Amino acid sequence: MSETSVIELSRESVNNNIRFLRKKYGSKVRISSVLKANAYGHGIEQMAPMLEDAGIDHFSVFDFSEAMRVKNSLKTDASVMIMGWISPTHIKKAIFSGFEFYIFNLDRLRLALKYAQLQQLKAKIHIEAETGMNRSGLNQRDLLKVIEIIKSNPKHFEIMGFCSHLSGAESISNYMRIQQQIRKYHKMLTTFTSSGLTPQFRHLANSAASLVYPKTRLDLVRVGILQYGFWPSTETFIHYISRRKDKSDPLLRILKWKSRIMSIKEVKTGEFVGYGISFLAQSNIRTALIPIGYSCGYSRSLSNKGQVLIDGMLCNVIGVVNMNMIIADITLTNNANIGDEVVIIGKQENHEIKVSSFSDSSNMLNYEVLTHLPKNITRVVV
Ligand SMILES: *Cc1c(COP(=O)(O)O)cnc(C)c1O
Repeated sequence: MSETSVIELSRESVNNNIRFLRKKYGSKVRISSVLKANAYGHGIEQMAPMLEDAGIDHFSVFDFSEAMRVKNSLKTDASVMIMGWISPTHIKKAIFSGFEFYIFNLDRLRLALKYAQLQQLKAKIHIEAETGMNRSGLNQRDLLKVIEIIKSNPKHFEIMGFCSHLSGAESISNYMRIQQQIRKYHKMLTTFTSSGLTPQFRHLANSAASLVYPKTRLDLVRVGILQYGFWPSTETFIHYISRRKDKSDPLLRILKWKSRIMSIKEVKTGEFVGYGISFLAQSNIRTALIPIGYSCGYSRSLSNKGQVLIDGMLCNVIGVVNMNMIIADITLTNNANIGDEVVIIGKQENHEIKVSSFSDSSNMLNYEVLTHLPKNITRVVV
């Protein structure tokens, strides 16, 4: 474990966000909490039990190893669904562990059948339909084949779901494509159900779709980014807020990333700071050394650009981001001492450093910054 910084996770924020989503979706829609990519960098082992306490009983992950981590962190026997990768050697164990998993091609279905038969168990499957994203999913012809195989082996399958994924609900520029996908989904669903098979949960929406296209909520919503207190895009936030009287953000960020001042130095006018010549002191300044760098997820692109919070003040990162250290200009602080808290993401007194401020360009960057937070930073629930 790296001890140079700590990620604090707020239980109160988790409860707030889940409360908000429940109210928004209503009691008929089940929430599946998406914990892939180490719970969007927050930490699976900390997030799963907190979400469970907040009433979540269904979790989604990308691969088998994440499913095991979720299962081992849970106190109850909540459902765990694998949306992506399971190596052929783990299909048997996935069935044995009672994991739900996606069927997106015939190979996966045949393997599931083989290992369900071998263990005299039922594979809990979600049929993933190809509706236009062209990533994973069954086309109409394969769907017919899947129906045939399931119907001839009723003892070995439990049809947990019928699902698909939308190709960019967070941006209005994809509106037509999303509408087509929704129509295609319902057409394929009809093919499936009219064969006599009934999925327990019909699901299509991620965070963005659940807000922008409410009719995609169906029986279950796979919620990722929103539960962590972030909007999928500025557009989705504006979409939400423009329909409300109260214009404040109902979500609370869960994560706070902080470190400490390692050393303090006075630098004279005309001196360079750090590697190379990218920062020249234009006056006498005071600097703080902070033991985080690009090896722990603090991007080099924040060289001479990033900001941190020290003594309640926004302080500029000066010079280039090193592998393990950054330097901040603390000239304007009144009372900064060695050992004091440095906030890299989150609030300190009246200021907040947002994940989005790590870049003003891409919408997806919230997701990217979060998922790059290394696993070896200690996570503590507060
Ligand atoms: C990641 C993912 C989600 C959650 O997406 P958010 O935008 O974070 O809500 C939902 N469904 C699938 C298939 C995913 O891969």
